[in-house]
Amino acid sequence: MRSIQAVQELTEKIAFYKRQGLAIGLVPTMGYLHSGHLSLVEACKKSCDVCIVSIYVNPSQFNQVSDFDSYPKDVERDFRLLKSIGCDLVWVPEVKDVESIPLNLIYDVENLDVDLEGKYRKGHFKGVLEVVYRLFKAVKPDKAYFGEKDFQQFKIIELMVKKNALPIEVIPSPTMREQDGLAMSSRNVRLSDEQRALAPQLYKTMSSVVKNAKLENVPRLIEQAREALNHKGFSVEYLDIYSFDSQNSRLFAAVKLGEVRLIDNISL
Ligand code: AMP
Repeated sequence: MRSIQAVQELTEKIAFYKRQGLAIGLVPTMGYLHSGHLSLVEACKKSCDVCIVSIYVNPSQFNQVSDFDSYPKDVERDFRLLKSIGCDLVWVPEVKDVESIPLNLIYDVENLDVDLEGKYRKGHFKGVLEVVYRLFKAVKPDKAYFGEKDFQQFKIIELMVKKNALPIEVIPSPTMREQDGLAMSSRNVRLSDEQRALAPQLYKTMSSVVKNAKLENVPRLIEQAREALNHKGFSVEYLDIYSFDSQNSRLFAAVKLGEVRLIDNISL
């Protein structure tokens, strides 16, 4: 597995792959990898000739400096994991490398960025769109893989690709969970033992809302679930049903346990 930092070196390697007609897959990450990330790498390896993983903790998508500063990092461990599952190339740019890539982005994502995360993390999706656009420009992947864990992000990137006429297939991958149901996240290591023991209650409560949604008054069910979570010690930012298209609705949640913010969503 090759590791690259500079855009110039990456560009030469991409040109080399393209000359051979190889299909390139990209998995963008912020590192501190877990099995959720690795499931995207596996999906990428299955349908692409070359699997590239980027590791970049993008400062512009953090709306709180403290969240950025405390974001966990262990690049050596990430390299070992990626090598062990057969990733071909890991790109670990610095801020200056990413910012050297020209940004001619059409931002319009038809208000998909207004609700849910958009409401609670001002500027977050602008930062995400800018960095993903630049990663796409540099890597020129045929396919790019995103987790349904960040479902709103996936839908926004899918639309950004369409609006900017980028020749990239954006592929969603299901949320990987711990055995107790907690969605895997790099931020989970910041939970105290007590918070970690409580955290699976989020998925449990959400699953129960989804299970009963066909039988009962849904707004009331959601209100009760919100109250139950707050009572248990979560601080609920939102717990809402939302549809990104006419066919599929999902239940979305963002909660805080102390300083740690958790998000999750499940299909209805
Ligand atoms: P992050 O490093 O958190 O920016 O995540 C990089 C990619 O991995 C994003 O597309 C996420 O949606 C995806 N991802 C994060 N957690 C999970 C998970 N538990 N299951 C599946 N994909 C995930």
